[in-house]
Amino acid sequence: MTDAAHSPDPVGPIEPLGPLARRVRRSLNGDHPGETGTMLPPFIDHHVHLQLADAAPAVARGIAAVVDLGADPGAIATIARADGLPHVRYAGAFLTARGGYPSGRPWAPGGSVRELDPVSGDADDVRERRHHALSGPVEAAVDEQRRFGASVVKVALNAVAGPVFDRATLDAVIAAAHAAGLPVAVHAEGTGMAEHAIDAGADVLVHAPFTDRLDDDVIARAAAAGQAWVSTLAIHVRDDASVAETAIDNVRRFHAAGGRVLYGTDAGNGELDPGVNPDEVAALVRAGLAASAVIAALADPWPERSPGWADAGVATFVPDPAPADDDLVDPDAVARWLATARLVPTEELEPR
Ligand SMILES: [Zn+2]
Repeated sequence: MTDAAHSPDPVGPIEPLGPLARRVRRSLNGDHPGETGTMLPPFIDHHVHLQLADAAPAVARGIAAVVDLGADPGAIATIARADGLPHVRYAGAFLTARGGYPSGRPWAPGGSVRELDPVSGDADDVRERRHHALSGPVEAAVDEQRRFGASVVKVALNAVAGPVFDRATLDAVIAAAHAAGLPVAVHAEGTGMAEHAIDAGADVLVHAPFTDRLDDDVIARAAAAGQAWVSTLAIHVRDDASVAETAIDNVRRFHAAGGRVLYGTDAGNGELDPGVNPDEVAALVRAGLAASAVIAALADPWPERSPGWADAGVATFVPDPAPADDDLVDPDAVARWLATARLVPTEELEPR
């Protein structure tokens, strides 16, 4: 064998960064002629509130697409239809128990909260109603979001802030959403609420559980069921170090159990650095995600199955220098590097 046989393929994947990374050079007619770096798929912030925070600064700093998880359904449908970046998927309104979070919160936009009474009857009654295609208030609320173009149904289970759905009502909401072809994404807050959502088969937790340290068997069950967790760790790093440690510990064990982690910041929740947030990235690395796993969390197509919706002629470009292989598990090194991500036209990037 010659030495050349041992050298890495210069246009192939960059192994330590995962199968999505390519070494590239910017073309000579662009803004930064000849600059070298890493090309990655378009990045998605899987938890934002576009009625509360303008997305333009995030787009300027590397975010191509966002998932809005709580808004007035008509208003978010209009925002999502606008031309240009970011591409938007959305939930529409928060579905919650009557008087439940976030009803009455000053930040909650008008029309963004849909309160529901408990369903009567047990799970068999609910199944029977579904079997006969009988539609109640739960089905109507889900259908309303779907008609406004929602890709996901958002449920708030915040026991700290007010009443929450009982199991029968949560089951009915999840059944109605799944019948409409929509996943259910749950805000779980307060003791037992993450377990409540996991037991009922919620598809996604919109915040990595942060109230309590979850039991290993609960985490194993969530991971085995294919549940995904949106990280939102930077808000805790900002607000409360011990809450951040609880959330990071839960994510560490969820990731180790094979759980699917989605990058998300809850942009619109107070002051956060827009774009690829270095605190979010650093916390994910501290939770045991290697750089390749952080990139996968940023590029995951959820709530769609394939990444095409976030990809319209733009790619993520992260200028050199990339961290050395040994630094790909260093939270600050990975965070500093990914925070320099920018969106560039794909045609301006040449393999090298
Ligand atoms: Zn949120």
